[in-house]
Amino acid sequence: MPFRHVPVERPPLSAPYPPHAYPYPQQPGPYPQPYPQPYPQPSGPGCEVCGAMPAAPVTVRGHQGMVVVMRFLRRQGVLCRTCGLAVARRMQADTLVQGWWGPLSMLITPFVLLLNVGELSRIRKLPPPATAAWRPPLDPGRPVLRRPAGLVALVPLLALAGLVLAVPLLIVIGMAVDSGGNGHVTLKPGSCARNLADWPQQDLRPADCGSPDAQFRVYWPDGPACEPGDYDAYPEYSEDGGLSLCLHPVKKAKN
Ligand SMILES: [Zn+2]
Repeated sequence: MPFRHVPVERPPLSAPYPPHAYPYPQQPGPYPQPYPQPYPQPSGPGCEVCGAMPAAPVTVRGHQGMVVVMRFLRRQGVLCRTCGLAVARRMQADTLVQGWWGPLSMLITPFVLLLNVGELSRIRKLPPPATAAWRPPLDPGRPVLRRPAGLVALVPLLALAGLVLAVPLLIVIGMAVDSGGNGHVTLKPGSCARNLADWPQQDLRPADCGSPDAQFRVYWPDGPACEPGDYDAYPEYSEDGGLSLCLHPVKKAKN
């Protein structure tokens, strides 16, 4: 069984020791160090947690919703790939579980998670530690979505996705209903209708024959044309879209 690092619970990110490029002072050699170095070596600061190189500045964010109050978390440090993944995954998993619990938090958490996704992919691009660590690195553990937290977070994430999808869907439905009013309403013979547009334009809507809104009674023509004084409805208002219905003006009862 391969050696596994023991996971460290919430390790301090600020190093207890000042981050030296080399953890141990070097003995001044009798010969000058070759400069420039004959082969590329990782340079720059070492990981704040384990001292390994290369390391890069990492900023991970977290969010906790607590119904009324909420908490923004931020961890910043110069970390190697292994420790960076450990810290970022931990924060991401915690936020996935703790982030949603508040009306504002539900809106904030997706942004925090997205920021961390970006940071995680940045950390993954770091080369693995090439120099020896002077303390064991943090355990990066499993990727966030393969942790229980990933499953817990599926519920709010799916709810959010549903919400995001619902908005365009409602708009499409609204447009369909709207365009239904622009000529795709079908009128039935014997029913009544009103025209919302000004003649000769037609924007016909069904109307209750008993209501004062009713302007026309709809009927099928007996012959090739409507009776004198009546109007032809556009063919699109009839059920098959082929024949024109006729519109007989309804005498308005005088008030
Ligand atoms: Zn490290």
